[in-house]
Amino acid sequence: MLLGLVVGLTLVGCKDQPKESATATKSEASETKQVSSDEYAAFRGEPPLEEDICFEAQRRRIPVLMFHDIVAERGKGTLWYDCTIEEFEAILTAIDIEGFTVISSQDLFEHLTTGKEVPEKSIVLTFDDNYQSFYDYAWPLLQQYNYPSTMFVHTGFVGSQQGRPKMTWETLKELTQSKLFTVGGHTINHYLDLKDRDISVQTSELADSKKELESQLGLTVDFLAYPNGSNGEDTQLITRQSGYKMAYTIVNTPAEESPNIMAVGRYVHTKYQEALRDRDGAVYGHPATIYRAPWNKKSKIKYVNDKFAGVPLRMTFGGMPSTHMSLTGREMVSTFVEREQAQAGINGGFFAMAAIASTDNAMVGPLKTPEMGEVVPDQSAERWDKINGRPLVVWSEEEFAILPYIPAQMHNEEQFQWFMKGYTDTFMAGVWLVHNGVPQPREFQSVVGAKDIQDLRRRAFIGITKDGQFVAGAAVTSVSSEKLAIAIAEAGVEEAVLIDSGFSTSLVFDGKIKASGHSSAKDPSRPVPHAITIKGVVDETTQDDEDLAVQQPKKRR
Ligand SMILES: [Zn+2]
Repeated sequence: MLLGLVVGLTLVGCKDQPKESATATKSEASETKQVSSDEYAAFRGEPPLEEDICFEAQRRRIPVLMFHDIVAERGKGTLWYDCTIEEFEAILTAIDIEGFTVISSQDLFEHLTTGKEVPEKSIVLTFDDNYQSFYDYAWPLLQQYNYPSTMFVHTGFVGSQQGRPKMTWETLKELTQSKLFTVGGHTINHYLDLKDRDISVQTSELADSKKELESQLGLTVDFLAYPNGSNGEDTQLITRQSGYKMAYTIVNTPAEESPNIMAVGRYVHTKYQEALRDRDGAVYGHPATIYRAPWNKKSKIKYVNDKFAGVPLRMTFGGMPSTHMSLTGREMVSTFVEREQAQAGINGGFFAMAAIASTDNAMVGPLKTPEMGEVVPDQSAERWDKINGRPLVVWSEEEFAILPYIPAQMHNEEQFQWFMKGYTDTFMAGVWLVHNGVPQPREFQSVVGAKDIQDLRRRAFIGITKDGQFVAGAAVTSVSSEKLAIAIAEAGVEEAVLIDSGFSTSLVFDGKIKASGHSSAKDPSRPVPHAITIKGVVDETTQDDEDLAVQQPKKRR
């Protein structure tokens, strides 16, 4: 069993990834470009009054494991979610071999709600139902490995010897003397349908069990696990009002991708390897990191038409970008540029994709432009699975950021403001193309990309250079996202994401269309609902290429 687990785990890390790039990205991840803590504090707003999962938590992907009874051996009457001592020790060993740090529920809570730094490979261990076997079998091993854990206790069963014996108050008291042990709430009666019970029942189950634990053990209980994971909006609200700081469900998802702090996902221990696969997928695919850097406000706008890694690219560097929604539904990028009296522009976020049915002008993902008072969340929960983890672009007049977008939780203006004080623009991009100067390989891109990301088509992107210049560009031949990423990195772009492409591709500079979604630039791209315009002083040395450009369509007026 031990050997099987370890071999399986080793495969997880390298199966689908080119080894070298995976290593490169891993080491790069720890050096993610960040502003100094003083500068950062200046960019951060006031924390929201209600604690919840914050954007800063997206730097990590932490699995929380859930155990129940630990049994000496499998036999008649053993349940599928029982864990034998041998299996348990195999997981503890695997955690160690894989290089994970086991952190406490308190560490996880602080990481989720404040972005507190935790090791890149962190994991949390939790136990439900207060089984005596924890004390007899698990505890000695946990002490030996020095791993912290949390036990969720249903107060109506403490000390019960019926069926599988439960720990007594005396045993719990002894355990709470150790810093490795945290006790959490698990209601009184362990109703499997807690969310469907009367509000008064839910309140007493949640609040009274907390009080009982606190008075019996002389401590504060901050965390809860819903019996059977049963929770709804009411249950979450009552949990918060009862004074719990964080509550766990049984939904298999990394903690950072949970909808909120009162519904943090956990993996049943039998899904340990799935938990690691999910983590790796997120870490390599998003990547689970936050890129954040100040603008270079002095940069002039420079137009570049050149080949990089064999791919002809047309790009603008520098200037200050801002996003806009069309006034009429959909318009040509050149119309946006003209209206804003900007020097350049490019098509913006996604409004229709092959993999996502969308026939109207509604944008996919959250949106804010300088004209809007607050963020407009994504409107369609049915597509959340498909867009979970895609790069979210956020900027203010001071700085630029990209982070993984989690649709179930990123809809609160206060959270956006806390992440970046006075932010003016946000929209969802396609895939992360370049991260810390490293082109993201196909395998990483596939984790969050639409099925067509490797098809040959016109592709547009935005990004930033190491010295803080905004970059907007497009390939003027059809390329895969993977080839495009290599070309962009060679062009000196530090961080880049794909924006809406194909027929929407449209780069405008100096009043001319420099790249379009068609093979001939004479055919303008399709009108779009959202575009990015770029204002600034044009660099005198910029060489325009008249022969390749065509006039923009005639003005309507
Ligand atoms: Zn339980």
